[in-house]
Parts: sequence; structure tokens; C-alpha cells
Amino acid sequence: MALEIEQFMARGDNFCVLVHDPDSHSTVLIDAPREEEILAALDRTGWNLTHILITHHHGDHVEALKPLKHRFTPKVFGPKGEADKIDGLDELVGDGDTISICNQTVEVIETPGHTAGHVCYYFPKSGLLFAADTLFAMGCGRLFEKGPAEMQKSFDKLAALPDETQVYCGHEYTLANAKFAVTVDPDNEALRERLTVVDVQRQAGEMTLPTTIGLEKQTNPYFRTSDASLKAALGMENASPTEVFAEIRGRKDRF
Ligand SMILES: [Zn+2]
Repeated sequence: MALEIEQFMARGDNFCVLVHDPDSHSTVLIDAPREEEILAALDRTGWNLTHILITHHHGDHVEALKPLKHRFTPKVFGPKGEADKIDGLDELVGDGDTISICNQTVEVIETPGHTAGHVCYYFPKSGLLFAADTLFAMGCGRLFEKGPAEMQKSFDKLAALPDETQVYCGHEYTLANAKFAVTVDPDNEALRERLTVVDVQRQAGEMTLPTTIGLEKQTNPYFRTSDASLKAALGMENASPTEVFAEIRGRKDRF
């Protein structure tokens, strides 16, 4: 049977996701923003928490880790590059490692940029990617611990995944990202159409995720750093992809 997914908001704009495998009865939580909303989701679904996958050390992704461990004794996986910053990890994972859960193999992809040890979790059999604060719909995470060159390499890794991959992200930043993206990629028709769609979705109080790798490649400026029309709009016709990436990220920081 296919995996069942429960996506919900916590702490305002943090996304939280539970992945449930009806065959093995495993339930995986991706990141642990706040216990209250997670307990409500477990109650609603009737699922028993068995695993937690942590992407990075920021407080809004690990806050509920300790209380959840105490209550359910799940097995917790997290980035080995940030082991000293996260209490409660049972197994440390890094680039290329695999984890067996939900009757499938999960691949760990290290994506330094937002934090130095940030990891994404990819479920190839189900075509799911949990990208947390690396990749957002039409955006990318703030570069707190690494620079644009590293983050661009991280984006290259994600761009290599199949277009139909369903992407779950750490925050509902979609509309703000779209409004910024059209300022650097004004001639992108797919982006303009998407801005209209997400505007309507947000006004209706709907979640805008998951997205897909294919849609992000069309509309996310950080995936389009080699695109001629985007480069022309920035006046950077001869710049390298990393220079373009850095310029877009810098403009977003000031937007
Ligand atoms: Zn973060």
C-alpha cells in the first residue's frame, strides 16, 4: 500500500509532516517543531509515532524532540554534521547514507547552506523529498552557516531528482517567495501564473505544498541561475551560476 501523509502547520508557519506506512504500521515524523500540534495530528490519525527524521539543528525543527522521545520512544535519525547541537539523536546520518523505514530505503542527501550540516531525506520508491529549510517553493533557505556556492551545489543535487518528486518544505513562505521571484524573473510566464494560484490558495487559508522538483525547476529562481532571460533581467548575462545565485539571495535578503 502507498504511504499516507499528514501535513499540518505548527508554530505559525512551520510545516510538519507525518508519513505512515499501513503495512509496517510505522509512522515517521519529519522534524519536531512543537509537541502540541504533533500530538493533535497523531490523535487525529490514530498513528503511533515510531521514527523521527531531523533535518537540522534550529530550534523550530527540534523543539518537540525530547518530549516526544519521552512519550513514544521513537528512533531518531539526524545529521551527523550537527550531532553536537542536537540532543536526542539515536543514529547519525550523512550524505549517501540510507535508512530502512516504512518498507523502503530512504536516502540521505546533505545540503549545506542554511546550516552547515543540513540534510534532506529522499524516499525514491514513493517519490518524496523532505527538504526542510534548504529548498522552499520558489525560494531557498537563508544562508546562515554556508555561502551561495555551497547552497548552489546543494540545489544541483536536488535538481538531479526526478521531476515528479513531491517536495515537502519546512515553512509556508510560498507567497512571499513568489512575490520576490517575479522581481528577478519577470518574463517567466509559469512563475507569474503560479503567483496567481498561490495568492488564491493563501487567501483561502490553504497550504501551498507539496510542490514538485519539475515545478520548482520552472519557477524557482535559484534553480534557474543558468537561464538566459533571468540573467538578462538581472543584467548578469556573463555571470556564473554561483554569481547569479548569490545576487538573487542577496536581493531577497534586502527585499
Ligand atoms: Zn532552519
